[in-house]
Amino acid sequence: MLDVADALAVVLRHAGRLAPADGPLSPAALGRVLAADVTADRDSPPFAKSLRDGYAVRAADVAKGPGDLRIIEDVPAGAVPTKAVGPGQCTRLFTGAPIPDGADAVVMQEQARQVGIARVRLDDAGVKPGQWVFPRGQEMAAGDVVLPAGTPLTPAALGLLAAVGRTSASLYPSPRVGILATGDELVEADAAPGPGQIRNSNGPMLAALAARAGGTPRYLGIGRDDKARLKALVRDGLDTSDVLLLAGGVSVGDFDLVPDVLAELGVTTHVRTVRMKPGKPLLFGTRGNTLVFGLPGNPGSAFVGFELFARPALRLLAGHALPGPTVVSLPLAGPLAASNDRPTYHPAKLEGASVRPLPWGGAPDLRGLVPADALLALPAGDVRYNAGDPVPVVLV
Ligand code: AMP
Ligand code: MG
Repeated sequence: MLDVADALAVVLRHAGRLAPADGPLSPAALGRVLAADVTADRDSPPFAKSLRDGYAVRAADVAKGPGDLRIIEDVPAGAVPTKAVGPGQCTRLFTGAPIPDGADAVVMQEQARQVGIARVRLDDAGVKPGQWVFPRGQEMAAGDVVLPAGTPLTPAALGLLAAVGRTSASLYPSPRVGILATGDELVEADAAPGPGQIRNSNGPMLAALAARAGGTPRYLGIGRDDKARLKALVRDGLDTSDVLLLAGGVSVGDFDLVPDVLAELGVTTHVRTVRMKPGKPLLFGTRGNTLVFGLPGNPGSAFVGFELFARPALRLLAGHALPGPTVVSLPLAGPLAASNDRPTYHPAKLEGASVRPLPWGGAPDLRGLVPADALLALPAGDVRYNAGDPVPVVLV
């Protein structure tokens, strides 16, 4: 039996980046990771531009005190000035418009009063050169690496890629995640369970967890507790997945066929049990580059096992530098006493800058997990915390 940290190290050792490919930069690329540096194709802004609606001036003309200036031209955004601003002159312009030659500052229109045809009085004695001017190349210069390889695509990154003229980029792909629930007691959500049967909640939950972690889930169905039939499904999963998730059948009961089936299909098992609660039986194996997770069948255990081990692996495959899980120390919102024989992960909810344990009935209780966005990482043994005490928390 391995400790969580050791089991995670084993998993991550086997999780290499997938081969990058060129992909379109649609919103579907959100969360993907760039596989190559992206450079700016031009300066931004490409010209010194106005940050306000107002008047381009020579600052020295206005700093002397309110004086009348002659308006020599109007320049809306998208137009280009054709005249240089000389002493006693100004150009009417709008946010985003290029600053004309000769001008070195902008006075806001709120500080201007029309005093005749094409004449304006500007009251801004504090004006200094550079006021309300966004200089050329301030954001980036042509040739700058603006998005280095390894950058995850956030909304801002997708905007920036458009700003430098990109519609596609070299990206690490979304890992293909095969999902297989196992158990003779299972029926799908659209079926009425017969005596002794329950609905398959792990299939949809794991597909959603895989999608949230950046994978592309493919649901393979329910594997029955029958070796030949289970084997056919697992073979399909191994052949078509970067990561294969199995739920149920990994324990040591008579009907827990997953470990044998995996061995017969050429999967090498690296982890069999982990010192944790819930989810002690947790199998991790590999066949070639395909990673296989045999998660326990109880939904709470499958959830915790996925977040602690499968999600970090998916992140590495997808090109992220930091696999997680993200662990932070947060003060408890209320007191907590617990007694566990193994390190325990308890569903919790972030409340501002603190964390509140959720009422939870243990591994089979999926309902209690619904509001969880964190797991308290409690040590083995008797623990007693007061409100405000810091506890380690895994963000999920
Ligand atoms: P197992 O790991 O196969 O021994 O299953 C442990 C418990 O989880 C049993 O009570 C199963 O009925 C339940 N279980 C297994 N698979 C699922 C599933 N896909 N959805 C909901 N419960 C399940
Ligand atoms: Mg089972």
